[in-house]
Amino acid sequence: MSILAERAVVQAEKFGAQLSIPCVADSLREEGGHLIVRLSDGTDVAGRAVIVASGAQYRRLDVARLEEFEESCVYYAATEIEAKMCGGSPVTIVGGGNSAGQAALFLSSKGSQVNLVIRGPDLAKSMSSYLIDRIVEDANITVRSESRITALEGDESLAALELTGPAGVERVVCSALFSFIGADPASGWLSGCAATDSKGFVLTDLALGPEHLDGRWDALGRLPLPFETSHPGLFAVGDVRSGSTKRVAAAVGEGSASVRSVHDYLAFVR
Ligand SMILES: Cc1cc2nc3c(=O)[nH]c(=O)nc-3n(C[C@H](O)[C@H](O)[C@H](O)COP(=O)(O)OP(=O)(O)OC[C@H]3O[C@@H](n4cnc5c(N)ncnc54)[C@H](O)[C@@H]3O)c2cc1C
Repeated sequence: MSILAERAVVQAEKFGAQLSIPCVADSLREEGGHLIVRLSDGTDVAGRAVIVASGAQYRRLDVARLEEFEESCVYYAATEIEAKMCGGSPVTIVGGGNSAGQAALFLSSKGSQVNLVIRGPDLAKSMSSYLIDRIVEDANITVRSESRITALEGDESLAALELTGPAGVERVVCSALFSFIGADPASGWLSGCAATDSKGFVLTDLALGPEHLDGRWDALGRLPLPFETSHPGLFAVGDVRSGSTKRVAAAVGEGSASVRSVHDYLAFVR
């Protein structure tokens, strides 16, 4: 990743981009036809277009030794790569949303016995019924409701975890822990300039309905461009964007594709 980032910096500088590192964007406002980003040191950075790529903060389980095992056996995604690393051994998944459900079915299909740990009494509150039906039918998946992970065990790698639930404290053997307990988008600094979904992820292009588009859009006589938010000239890409695939390759691809939209936008406002 760092090589990719280093090369991106070289390329950006080649095209005359000015980099400010480190800095924190505190707020956003519109003034005189420009979008102005206020940095935490009080500096204002003005642009006719802004691309937001501030990502999301993944929630982490509050359990001792998590950081230690994050280097080897705690995962935040379940793809072929993670499945290969588990090699069909027993795994525990924590989380009751669709991503946890999809991971449970996927890892079960790869031969793992799966314990799916949820805080609530059942999955109905937070998971789609088509996933629940398949989970219920899957003999490899056990749903552990009203439970919490209270300890992690193992020397160099995870060997077991402690589950605290209605039946008391139980030791569950597993070689990997998958965490799908959500993420908080870094969209607060947008100061309400862009419409978001109920969790604060920024809505763009086709996700924006008429209720999000105010009179400015009537005056422009067009719909939002790909990656454009409800604010004309403000674009969002990567994890902060509602509905994006939360992966590095997707974020990098969206970032580069959004530049095309910025060019189109600048052509409109010229
Ligand atoms: C533990 C973990 C493991 C993962 N493993 C993989 C993996 O193996 N493969 C994969 O493809 N994906 C993985 N992901 C997901 C991947 O990291 C993200 O999808 C990707 O990094 C999203 O890129 P982004 O640029 O949108 O956001 P980020 O990479 O999160 O970058 C956003 C940046 O903006 C900064 N920022 C936030 N707010 C502000 C602000 N107000 N002002 C200035 N800067 C700000 C943040 O500090 C951060 O540096 C993993 C994620 C986690 C948490």
